[in-house]
Amino acid sequence: MALEDKYGAHNYHPLGVVIDRAEGIWVWDVEGNKYLDFLSAYSAVSAGHLNKDLKKVLIEQLEELDVPSRAFYTDKLGAFAENLCTLTSMDKMLPMNTGAEAVETAIKAARKWGYTVKGIEKDKAKILVSSGNFHGRTTTIVGFSSEEEYKSGFGPFDGGFEIVEFGNIDALEKAITPEVCAFITEPIQGEAGIIIPPEGWLKQVQALCRKNNVLFIIDEIQSGIGRTGKNFAFQHEIDKPDGLILGKALGGGIYPVSAFLAKDEVMNVFNPGSHGSTFGGNPIAAAIGLEALRILVKEDLAGKSAELGAYLKQALEDIGSGLVKEVRGAGLWIGMDIDPAKASAREVCERLKKRGLLCKETHETVVRFAPPLTITKEDVDWALIQVTQVLEEMEHEQHSSQAAE
Ligand SMILES: *Cc1c(COP(=O)(O)O)cnc(C)c1O
Repeated sequence: MALEDKYGAHNYHPLGVVIDRAEGIWVWDVEGNKYLDFLSAYSAVSAGHLNKDLKKVLIEQLEELDVPSRAFYTDKLGAFAENLCTLTSMDKMLPMNTGAEAVETAIKAARKWGYTVKGIEKDKAKILVSSGNFHGRTTTIVGFSSEEEYKSGFGPFDGGFEIVEFGNIDALEKAITPEVCAFITEPIQGEAGIIIPPEGWLKQVQALCRKNNVLFIIDEIQSGIGRTGKNFAFQHEIDKPDGLILGKALGGGIYPVSAFLAKDEVMNVFNPGSHGSTFGGNPIAAAIGLEALRILVKEDLAGKSAELGAYLKQALEDIGSGLVKEVRGAGLWIGMDIDPAKASAREVCERLKKRGLLCKETHETVVRFAPPLTITKEDVDWALIQVTQVLEEMEHEQHSSQAAE
């Protein structure tokens, strides 16, 4: 901790636990204490830590071939691309590494489609995004964030984006002009605190975008790969978007794998030289990505997420704590809103950590629960006991201190 603190940039504020081992839903610290991982690396470790099938594929791949670059074909990328397109109902994929790179890819595709297919005047294309969005940390992406913390001090920003209220179909309709090439949004906002739009919104957005020849591009980097109780969150409401962005759990929590997917008309704007990535789609990434998809389907991670998520959400509501304003969720992806007048989300996380449950606050008021989707009901129940007891003890202390005043 001291070394990270001295030699590392302070762009994170980690909980005071040093992890050196993991297996499935569990992690251990250097002192041998065991914790239930209720964050899963922001939903990247949905298949569980060091999932044995993913580990096997990685080791086998390391016996065969590493990174020859996209200057050549390899024996792994084709099968990964085919599986990913089939599962998402998209025509083509473009592999990258991190989520932010896949979002950048989507932005480039949308703009070029705007010029070459929709016929928008040169350098006039505009992309609409949602308020409260999180799409990554590049300068372009933070430039269209509505969160001052993400963008402050990093300008100037180039423009070409306009923010519309998340979940508000009328606001979106008003913002659409002939220069708009795309609307990019998360289907449910993760970093913003598991914010769920009104029911039917995705369907309305799809219809509105079709009517106005605007691409509907969905960022499922956090919500995808089973997290919300469907393989992809858009499947709760629509057949498919025009573009889809995946990352995090696509790499099984052990390797950075991301992708932008789209219909042919959009992806065909790329030609040799127009975009690329040295590591994107390398055989290790492709082998792991393919296996992550196989596990998603074979182990019905979405079905498990739907069932246990509904159970966990109801049970959290049933605690009925006075510190909790709201419990929101879809599948095993739940935000518990802490009343800031009474307690901080950070304090809840610190206390849960002491009891062996690791989660992390997002913003000051939301505790996010996102365990690996391989978790059992028994272990969810254990976590529930910890949450219940922490909320009870905090509420009790609050009442005692009020009584003392
Ligand atoms: C995490 C995340 C990103 C950024 O992914 P990185 O791999 O950190 O670049 C983008 N969009 C959403 C919705 C995310 O949750």
